[in-house]
Amino acid sequence: MKSPLEKALNPNSFREQSHKLVDMLADYLENIQTEMHQPVLKWQPPEKAVKKWEDRLNEESKSQEDFFRDLIEDSIHVHHPHFMGHQLSPIAPLAATASLLTDFLNNGTGIYEMGPPGSMMEFTVIREVAKAMGLPTDSGGFLTSGGTLANLTALLAARSFKAEKNVWKEGESGDLALMVAEQAHYSVDRAVRIMGWGESGIIKIPVNDNFEMRTDLLEQYYEKAKAEGKRVIAVVGSACSTATGAFDDLEAIADFCENNNLWLHVDGAHGGALCFSEKYKHLLNGIHRADSVIMDFHKLLLTPVTTTAVVFRDKKLSYQTFAQKASYLFNKTAEEEWFNLALRTFECTKPSLAIPVYSLFYSYGTSLFDDFVTKVCDNGRSLAKLINQRDNFELAHDPQCNIVCFRYVKEGKTTSELDELNRQIRKTILKTGNFYIVQTVLNGKQYLRTTLGSPMTEDKHLSLLLDEIEIIGNRIQ
Ligand SMILES: *Cc1c(COP(=O)(O)O)cnc(C)c1O
Repeated sequence: MKSPLEKALNPNSFREQSHKLVDMLADYLENIQTEMHQPVLKWQPPEKAVKKWEDRLNEESKSQEDFFRDLIEDSIHVHHPHFMGHQLSPIAPLAATASLLTDFLNNGTGIYEMGPPGSMMEFTVIREVAKAMGLPTDSGGFLTSGGTLANLTALLAARSFKAEKNVWKEGESGDLALMVAEQAHYSVDRAVRIMGWGESGIIKIPVNDNFEMRTDLLEQYYEKAKAEGKRVIAVVGSACSTATGAFDDLEAIADFCENNNLWLHVDGAHGGALCFSEKYKHLLNGIHRADSVIMDFHKLLLTPVTTTAVVFRDKKLSYQTFAQKASYLFNKTAEEEWFNLALRTFECTKPSLAIPVYSLFYSYGTSLFDDFVTKVCDNGRSLAKLINQRDNFELAHDPQCNIVCFRYVKEGKTTSELDELNRQIRKTILKTGNFYIVQTVLNGKQYLRTTLGSPMTEDKHLSLLLDEIEIIGNRIQ
């Protein structure tokens, strides 16, 4: 009789279980690609789902294979052509294979000697991103776990560099602030509050009809903040904003920052990936002038959650986040130990995030990313075109990338009735599971929101979505 530990570490069981799983996943992908796999999600109330997994743990006869199969079925299917909800990328299978390798080796990357390949590959990955964004050759940075943490990390570096005193040692007096478009992702607001700047530390700049920052108002808001005793140290450009995928005018923001000696941070969590698309990278014009940029690999670049690049135009600035002194010149230890990334990241032990990404660069080159990003952004334009051809739909904005917001409209309904109708539509779609879409409120109105995530999505799927919305919309009184 083998002990649980012997069983758990048995090489043959590993071989057998993993081969079965890989076969299962290959079949799964094939079924999705041949459109044999429906629906995109199997909605069940969370109370039911939590109970199910509790019950499974106490099952009499257990089968690892059944368990894996069940788990796949209950998951949302991100490769599915009807996956159009939150911003998540389907994964390139090779990235998943590399993840298995990474998880198996279980090397950390906070300290070089605990994971030499994974930590050193980060430098190559960051260099590729910086190159695609047109940042200088002496830029640098690292990978971290998600855009939210990445924004906080970069903004802490901005604070440390721009604050007049040594905030790391003395704390700060609470008069610091940054400026950002009112449509920006909540993680910027959260970072400001975590840094202790409070509500008045985030100055929200209104947006234009296409939800882009009104850069013509920057001067006015800046002067007002100064008159109120605020010390604005940074402007955050969104590339793009989350709700509508609007790209702020980074050149205009960079000019403003240059003239006023402010730190320019670009939140490119979603749209930073467009730097790999020959067709769409112009939307990022000016990004090369940023002091810091973040970009999620898991949103548009076929990589597992959560893998985020934090890039600094001057790699020395990347040592600022947890700097003891206000100038990087004094932060010698961290610089001398450039290979120990934990000196610069929130994580102490960090997964080898670079390995799946590096594997994609290695096997396919950046043209894989170009193909994918261009395809899903083209889909954004196609959906807008189809919406414009139908009378009972209304676009919220001209889509710039793969995010499109719109609503279903019906004659004789008031605005609030239409809000309720669209909420009902989204709820019904979620429960039937034929499509995955989400919703958002813009200018006080309820919209349906799609992020076209799957490269398998074609015009026919987009038309089917609109048909389905129309059928549901007509049915609801
Ligand atoms: C998604 C997103 C974030 C947050 O990134 P996570 O990886 O989900 O933490 C930040 N900013 C923008 C603009 C985003 O779209």
